[in-house]
Amino acid sequence: MSRMHLDMFCYQCAMTAGGVGCTVRGVCGKSATAARLQDFLIFGLKGTSAYAYHAKELGYSDPKVDEFINEAMFTTLTNVNFDEKALFDYLLKLGEMNIRVMRLLKKAHIETYGEPEPTYVRTSPVKGRGIIVTGHSLKALEELLKQAEGTGIKIYTHSEMLPAHGYPKLKKYEHLVGNLGKAWHDQRWLFARYPMAVLATANCVVLPADAYRDRMFTTGPVALPGVKYIRGHDFSEVIKKVQELPEVQGEESEVKLLTGFSRSAILRHAKRIKELVEEGRLRRIFVIGGCDSPLRENNYYTELAMKLPKDTLILTMGCLKYRINDLELGDIEGVPRLLDLGQCNDTIVALDLLPDLAKLLGVDINELPLTIVVGWLEQKAVSILLSLLYLGVKGLYLGPRLPAWINDDILKILRERYDIKLVSDPETDLKAVLKS
Ligand code: SF4
Ligand code: SF4
Repeated sequence: MSRMHLDMFCYQCAMTAGGVGCTVRGVCGKSATAARLQDFLIFGLKGTSAYAYHAKELGYSDPKVDEFINEAMFTTLTNVNFDEKALFDYLLKLGEMNIRVMRLLKKAHIETYGEPEPTYVRTSPVKGRGIIVTGHSLKALEELLKQAEGTGIKIYTHSEMLPAHGYPKLKKYEHLVGNLGKAWHDQRWLFARYPMAVLATANCVVLPADAYRDRMFTTGPVALPGVKYIRGHDFSEVIKKVQELPEVQGEESEVKLLTGFSRSAILRHAKRIKELVEEGRLRRIFVIGGCDSPLRENNYYTELAMKLPKDTLILTMGCLKYRINDLELGDIEGVPRLLDLGQCNDTIVALDLLPDLAKLLGVDINELPLTIVVGWLEQKAVSILLSLLYLGVKGLYLGPRLPAWINDDILKILRERYDIKLVSDPETDLKAVLKS
């Protein structure tokens, strides 16, 4: 594949060509591919840092991960590393470190809030005043739930906060009543629609509309112009703001979202899954995970899920799930066809399930009847992609667009070593997958 792009762009040091940017080859001698690999590494490091941040919020850290983040950032400095192979090795090492940190975050979530349980979640508001919580920080959500207890205020999750409803020590709060909207990019519409306060705890946020700017709050790493920032976890200002707002009218919706499939919840179906595979009634498992975006191409995921034969299961994680989690996909003899594992960091649940499933079916991991489709938008999906490469996963589908920093040299490596495919159209991809 050949795309129209600058093969290189680097402007990180004083030697940069013409004082503007090295666009062909570095004045320092850095090759275009080395520059692209450094970008790849920095983007992946951003994702891993986000997971490390959320683990730290709950008091968990891993010195090995922290050490690696420092070293890998250092290697991208000017005049440190010109070696393409060494940079690729750093990418794989980052994939390994990202597995460590996702596992650490899962441990932190489970030890703090209990192991998730399959839970149906309401998708419309109940009458009364409310706060919508978006982002990924279960810690911020928990603190808000504690502080709003007994006030009559209802708390709603948005986007990637949906999996919170599956955790026993969060779902016990009766005022955690439902999930509103879909993936992150509907914020301007959703937050304007309901006169509730909004708390953004992490990505993804969009620049706010005037309609709700004065009732929106940010915390943690999030900041928006003109929006009140709350340092720490004292949310009394948010609660005070809600009390000045009108009540929201209750609405009914027939859609209920199912989330909360932990490793144990899936392994409870292990015997059934084995029988279904052996009897030919479960043909394939699709892992459809990652980030949603407003790009029209992302309709691919809805169409793909709708076209999947009824003898397939789908594991989801990340906000890409909103492309498919309101579809009526039914079940295979009591096993729901769509099993939501949680946030994008909960990809670790799927990765940890692979050896379990391989053992159960008596095959090697790469022989499992499994297809992985990664939807990517931002850099946490990049670190997840690197984790899959580190594990040697082959034949995964990536989309809707090829990351812009992947040049033809890097793409060649990804294709030759990992058989990575870019999603095309659901029908063609499905045909290829089901005949393999
Ligand atoms: S680090 Fe090298 S490639 Fe980057 S701006 Fe400086 S001279 Fe150019
Ligand atoms: S999965 Fe990715 S795109 Fe979606 S909210 Fe999380 S960070 Fe943002």
